[in-house]
Amino acid sequence: MRAYLPAYELTVPRTLNDALALLRDEPGVWQPFAGGTDLMVLLEAGRLDYRKFFSVARLAELRGIEESDAHVTLGALTTYTDVRRSDVLSREFPMLGRAASETGGLAIQNRGTLGGNIANASPAADSPPALLAYGAQIELVSTEGARWVEYADFHTGYKQTLMRADELIARVRLPRPREGARHFYRKVGTRRAQAISKVCIAALAETGDDGALTVVRIALGSVAPVVLRCRRTEELLKGRRPDAELIRDARGALAEDISPIDDIRSTARYRMRVAENLLEEFLTEVISESRRPNDSS
Ligand SMILES: Cc1cc2nc3c(=O)[nH]c(=O)nc-3n(C[C@H](O)[C@H](O)[C@H](O)COP(=O)(O)OP(=O)(O)OC[C@H]3O[C@@H](n4cnc5c(N)ncnc54)[C@H](O)[C@@H]3O)c2cc1C
Repeated sequence: MRAYLPAYELTVPRTLNDALALLRDEPGVWQPFAGGTDLMVLLEAGRLDYRKFFSVARLAELRGIEESDAHVTLGALTTYTDVRRSDVLSREFPMLGRAASETGGLAIQNRGTLGGNIANASPAADSPPALLAYGAQIELVSTEGARWVEYADFHTGYKQTLMRADELIARVRLPRPREGARHFYRKVGTRRAQAISKVCIAALAETGDDGALTVVRIALGSVAPVVLRCRRTEELLKGRRPDAELIRDARGALAEDISPIDDIRSTARYRMRVAENLLEEFLTEVISESRRPNDSS
């Protein structure tokens, strides 16, 4: 049932400091409102827990895509459409572009933001696996200052994060992958579009001249209470050259990294099998690419 609108308050702070002062003065009372694509669904359903919101949409500090030698840094207000239109992201972070183009429809892509997707902390969200595989860091700001945290540490339990009640997500920083890195992203849902993931994988690999994995990051969504890095599998693979035996062992390690459940969208068994198959597909691609070292497509 739709919520009773006059019961809610929405204010528009002029500056980031004004917004942070609201959070400092009444932490846990005021909530940020970015694109509203998650919040409006809750409002319509009468399940919006909070009453007081402030719009972050006009805060310039939360906007923009910046490049430095080592990083590309995105403002929390970066929308999926911004991601799709960015040359540097399309070129160097194709998994993020793929996640953006498979998120909702065009209206959602125009309004929905990366900051909102991260803060909403759904284990089935589609950009977080890509951010994890790229080794993202998140900047949290409050009146006390700013701190960078590893995104891999950010989600601490189902819908729980390490963000304090007086903090906002300001930026997301991505280390630039090496040229020739292998990027692998697959979202498996009921349909090709407008579907919540049953399983989502993002994986990045860099190999040495001998084909051994020098960097490997594997992240999965919809298979645990949080989106997560598959640390056991990564440890097993790192420094080794993938072959059929290693792929078999990696499938076993992955089964220990994740804990899928039966729910309305799928079964634990299906999710486990699909996750293992996608890992195998990724590693098979790495093997075939390392046989063609001059071709990085
Ligand atoms: C029809 C539909 C389809 C969708 N499809 C997908 C999909 O395919 N994949 C997917 O992953 N998601 C999907 N979503 C979910 C949603 O669009 C995304 O999670 C989106 O990125 C949320 O961003 P927002 O700016 O709209 O967040 P909002 O709704 O404004 O906020 C979401 C939460 O984040 C908090 N928040 C927002 N910005 C900040 C910030 N800077 N710092 C701290 N907290 C903040 C808010 O307080 C709120 O709790 C869909 C939603 C709809 C309605």
